[in-house]
Amino acid sequence: MSTCFGLYVHIPFCRTKCPYCAFDSAPDQDDLIDEYIETLCDEIAARPEQARSFDTVYFGGGTPGLLSEEHMGRITDFIRSELFVKPDAEWTIEVNPGDVTIDKASFWVKKAGFNRISLGVQSFEQNELDFLGRRHDVQDALDAISDCQMTGAKICIDLIQGLPGQNTEQRMRSVHKAASLKPSHISVYELTIDEGSAFHAAGAKFHRPDQDAAADGYLATSKYLRGKGYLHYEVSNYCLDTFDNMAAHNARYWQGRPWLGVGASAHSFDGTRRWWNVRGAAAYIQAMNQAENAIEDTEALTDDQLRLERVALGFRWMGGVARADLHADGVDDKLARLVREKLVMIRDDRVHSTVEGFLIADALARVLA
Ligand code: SF4
Repeated sequence: MSTCFGLYVHIPFCRTKCPYCAFDSAPDQDDLIDEYIETLCDEIAARPEQARSFDTVYFGGGTPGLLSEEHMGRITDFIRSELFVKPDAEWTIEVNPGDVTIDKASFWVKKAGFNRISLGVQSFEQNELDFLGRRHDVQDALDAISDCQMTGAKICIDLIQGLPGQNTEQRMRSVHKAASLKPSHISVYELTIDEGSAFHAAGAKFHRPDQDAAADGYLATSKYLRGKGYLHYEVSNYCLDTFDNMAAHNARYWQGRPWLGVGASAHSFDGTRRWWNVRGAAAYIQAMNQAENAIEDTEALTDDQLRLERVALGFRWMGGVARADLHADGVDDKLARLVREKLVMIRDDRVHSTVEGFLIADALARVLA
């Protein structure tokens, strides 16, 4: 039986550019959408031979929720006609609260076949949404969540913490609100100032929370959500009640399972090799037209690189790391100390981060790999 892949579809269109965002997305490109959608179909049709069956489909961006019904229907129908997607596959769409209407939500679920809607809420505090340059307001977010919940799809609420001057109590306000709405999944990310974002270009010097304050906020968030029935299964991710509510597509990244990415800047991985497409909708279309692929570069991973990736990713989620993958000098002594400090647990020859360990997941990988 062939290995199941995940399918990632990148939609690089946004209405406005948020100042913290370094993703491959841009506004004012509506004239490219027709051709972009047809080019995505061409790339799917020309996929590598081993990508035969799929058990997750993820539309990310950018803002996939911006696409018209015609465009979205064209690409989702094409995927179904061209690929074998398992009947019980997870289909996720990322949307912005400002774009959601009850009709659109109903289309995504009933016609396009998505069964999971990931909402970029980011905050339930208006001053924080303003700082983040979001186009929606708090009421838009509440309405959007309600409209999406009515479809019966699983709902994921994304939040951003660690804004300038934000203390733990302020961090927790949006967390409390999100949990009260009982979505099946909550993601809580720390604000980062990434190269390529407007914040970074402006050289913004924010008063960011110090490390202790950030750790306090992180642990308070985890404790609160766990108390509300959420499983803290990855550094930034929580699922309600059962691991069935975990983000199955994202989990394949942490597990090192293969996926095919299509669209501008999309990355792919087949288990030993990764490749990625050129950035930008126009460059992607041009590359596909000229060469029938848009690959910018390819990287073959050695066994040791694959091991280091398993370690780095394994400490970031509940799956943990195989003990046999840890090769550091004196690793037994180091592990014993980390167990005493309650930063890792060892079960069945696997080493797992605790919630406190999630806070230093990257350091655990460095010290133990
Ligand atoms: S954060 Fe999301 S909505 Fe904002 S510009 Fe980036 S991709 Fe678009």
